[in-house]
Amino acid sequence: MGLWKDQTCEARDPSEASLWKSQPNGEKINTGPKPTIRRLSSATANFDDLHLGPSVVVPPKHMEEPSDAHETAAALELAKHQLSVVGNEGTSTPSTRPETTTTDNYAFAFDIDGVLIRGGRPIPEAIEAMRVLNGQNEYGLKVPYIFLTNGGGKTEQERCVQLSRQLELEISPAQFICGHTPMKEMAEKYKTVLVVGGEGEKCRDVAEGYGFKDVVTPGDIMKDNERTTPFRKLTDQESQHSRKRNFGEIEIEAIFVFADSRHWGDDQQIIIDLLTSKYGRLGTTSESYDEGPPIYFSHNDIIWSAEHEHTRLGMGALRTSLEAIYESITGKKLVSTVFGKPQLGTFQFATRLLQQWRKDTFGINKPPETVYFVGDTPESDIRGTNEYNESSLSENDWYSILVRTGVFREGTEPRFTPRATVDNVLDAVKHGMKREMGKATKKKAMAQSAVDGEAMIEEHPITEAALDGT
Ligand SMILES: [Mg+2]
Repeated sequence: MGLWKDQTCEARDPSEASLWKSQPNGEKINTGPKPTIRRLSSATANFDDLHLGPSVVVPPKHMEEPSDAHETAAALELAKHQLSVVGNEGTSTPSTRPETTTTDNYAFAFDIDGVLIRGGRPIPEAIEAMRVLNGQNEYGLKVPYIFLTNGGGKTEQERCVQLSRQLELEISPAQFICGHTPMKEMAEKYKTVLVVGGEGEKCRDVAEGYGFKDVVTPGDIMKDNERTTPFRKLTDQESQHSRKRNFGEIEIEAIFVFADSRHWGDDQQIIIDLLTSKYGRLGTTSESYDEGPPIYFSHNDIIWSAEHEHTRLGMGALRTSLEAIYESITGKKLVSTVFGKPQLGTFQFATRLLQQWRKDTFGINKPPETVYFVGDTPESDIRGTNEYNESSLSENDWYSILVRTGVFREGTEPRFTPRATVDNVLDAVKHGMKREMGKATKKKAMAQSAVDGEAMIEEHPITEAALDGT
């Protein structure tokens, strides 16, 4: 387990130091092997207003291209598999190839918060559900799966290490899509960008890991001009981690909200300053209000399921509020681009990831007939799955399963109807596998019936001949 994790992390980020991260309190922690439990970001957020206005657009075409991140990780997984095969050669015990027990007919995709994790802890049935998928089931089958979360704020490999520990199994970055993962494909498009959200300066690391060349954070701007935010000054530690820049000479070409803002007021002030600027130059004001940089959000979940008994505000709420502020100042609608579920481009991205994962890890070179998507939020998980399934983009049957362990509450009517509703993720896994076994049994019976039918046709002339002969 340690081998592949280390290999993957090293390959994804050449610096081993990527596992050692400075915390807001100045401490450095190893985000690799040392157990840490943190609350995940807004992975389970629910959103109601996706279709309220023109400000949501479908993710751009470049999302259709595979990212190097999962390719690299997938290549390492393949190498790991090959090493294990080589390691078994020459021994008296024949190696068991994974594909001999892995189904190629179907796969699972999971939302994380409210499905597998809640408040930083695994939902009780989640560990058992993963064991079932990994072969501990009555059918003796392994079922491939991926994770598709709107959350973020950490690198994919850090999230995988954390989730691996929580669910007591190995998870590769090649199985994992965060809300901001598709933003990697924007790194070539812009030179200097503002990255907002997450713990401390963490999202700067994520963006730089994606290949963004010049990443600015709100802390850098507050450090350069402390009058930017009249009601909050940087702490000494925040100031230490912020970079001194001369923003009078810098044009910020795009704004990316990578993860949930920890300081809404300050972040909104800085975002509005840029949106109303001339070409992203702080200190300027556009007269036409159409010269500011574009803004991207990694998802649009208004609420999400955290430790609190009630849902909490997510990134979609920040966006909604920014739209209102922008319009009240400029009289214009704010146009933004949103990634994450339920955007169909995100499901296309997930389809490619799943295909690559199945191919490189299990040697399966055909698309699954069915993908079971398990989520807790009707507005993002169920809506996205259903709409993707009904669109011309989907080549498989995407089957939505709603669980009762997160945002959705029993007794309410989900705005988007799932194909199945179950108590928890273990029931979801069992439901999908049982359904597949039913389909397989039916298919087998039909095939047998066809064979029997053919046999009768073959037998009939013989019988006739025999009868004619008597
Ligand atoms: Mg969720």
